[in-house]
Amino acid sequence: MVVELNPFSLTVLGCSGSFPGPDSACSGYLVRGGGVSVWLDAGSGTMANLQRHVSLHDIDAVVLSHEHPDHCSDIEGLRVACGYVVERVGVPVYATAGVGRHLFPDFKTVLDWNVVTDGDDVEIGGLSLRFSRTDHPPETLAVRIDAGDRSLAYSADTGPGWSFEALGPGIDLALCEATYLADEEGPDSSHLSARQAGAMARDAGVERLVLTHVWPVIDRNESMDEGSSAYGQAVTMAETHAEYEI
Ligand SMILES: [Zn+2]
Ligand SMILES: [Zn+2]
Repeated sequence: MVVELNPFSLTVLGCSGSFPGPDSACSGYLVRGGGVSVWLDAGSGTMANLQRHVSLHDIDAVVLSHEHPDHCSDIEGLRVACGYVVERVGVPVYATAGVGRHLFPDFKTVLDWNVVTDGDDVEIGGLSLRFSRTDHPPETLAVRIDAGDRSLAYSADTGPGWSFEALGPGIDLALCEATYLADEEGPDSSHLSARQAGAMARDAGVERLVLTHVWPVIDRNESMDEGSSAYGQAVTMAETHAEYEI
């Protein structure tokens, strides 16, 4: 019998867009695969949920897509925990340059801080990461994560001027922001509607689509219907603590 010791998986730590809702923290995910555990985005409330799935001693790296608080504010909690309680120095963090400008001054003495930008490649254990600048101010990085022959892509925050196509073909699971519904679409939008997310993922040929970063005031059933219709097959709405195998 073959036992799979380390499947490639995505666990949702929070999926509310822009601000936390009554039932969900902001954006944050746990990616496990290639022998490592990576905390992908650290929006408010996600550090609490993270510890339901993995010990702070066992986080191998943190990846932060951009400096908006709904994607990075809980890195401050990790800094305090590692500096004073858990006593771990040098947890690698990969973040855009902007994230560091907003943090408490001693973060670089506690964490192993690495600035990443568009087109960078990073190896974390057996995971290969590739970053792509999205259509969202300030500098925001989507990421493709490959483990063996399987591939996860995360849009971070983006407007309609970016596509999963920028991360290449063969995406098995795409985690895409779908902040609102089609009635909020506008020419200068820096987010996607569920319709736009579905259409973009369809055009990029992604195998499975999970919608996240949904404003807490949006009707999730409407979002699912709108996204599924545009995608051409059923989308999955991200739910806190749900785990998806890639
Ligand atoms: Zn956001
Ligand atoms: Zn943002």
